[in-house]
Amino acid sequence: MEYKLTCDQVCALLNFYAEDKLSTKLTKYVKEHLENCPVCMEKYNQMKKMLNKFIEIQNEEMENPYATKQYEDFKTNLSAYIDNELNDFDSIKIKKIAISNPLARQDLENIYMFKKLLHTSFEKTKNEFKNDFSKSILCQIRHDCNEETKLDPFIKLSTAFFIMLSFITAGIIWILYF
Ligand SMILES: [Zn+2]
Repeated sequence: MEYKLTCDQVCALLNFYAEDKLSTKLTKYVKEHLENCPVCMEKYNQMKKMLNKFIEIQNEEMENPYATKQYEDFKTNLSAYIDNELNDFDSIKIKKIAISNPLARQDLENIYMFKKLLHTSFEKTKNEFKNDFSKSILCQIRHDCNEETKLDPFIKLSTAFFIMLSFITAGIIWILYF
C-alpha cells in the first residue's frame, strides 16, 4: 500500500522538492501527489518561477562578480577597518576582499587617499599654528611688536588697590602718631 501525503504535507515539502533536496522516497511521494492534485501543482509552479527568478538574480551577480554581498560587507566595515576597530578575523577578511576585489581595492585606495589629504591639511594647520606661536614668542622677547603691550586688567586693578591701601595706611599712621 502506497503512503499518501496530504496537501499540507506536500506544501511544507515543496521548497525542498523544488530544490531537489528530498530523499528518493519523499521525492516520489511528492511527485505522485503533484500529478494528482492541481492545487498543489499550481503552488509548485509558482514556487518554481520564484526560484528561477532567484537563480537569475544570482547569475546577474555572477556576471558582475565584484558587486556581491561580500563587497557590501566590505563597504559596511571599511571605516571600522581604517580606524583599526575590527578584530583580527574581520580585518583579515577585509584585507582578503580588498586583494581579490578590484572595486574594494579602489574604495580602500580612495579612503586612504582621503585620509592622507585630511592628515596633510591637518599637519599644515598645525605647522601654521606653530609658526604663529613661535613668531609671537619671538616678538615678545625682542619687544619689537607693533601691537602695544596691554597690561592685564587684573594687575592694573590690584596695583590701584595696593596704592590706595598704602595711602590709607600712611594716613592712619600719620593721624595716630603725629
Ligand atoms: Zn495537494
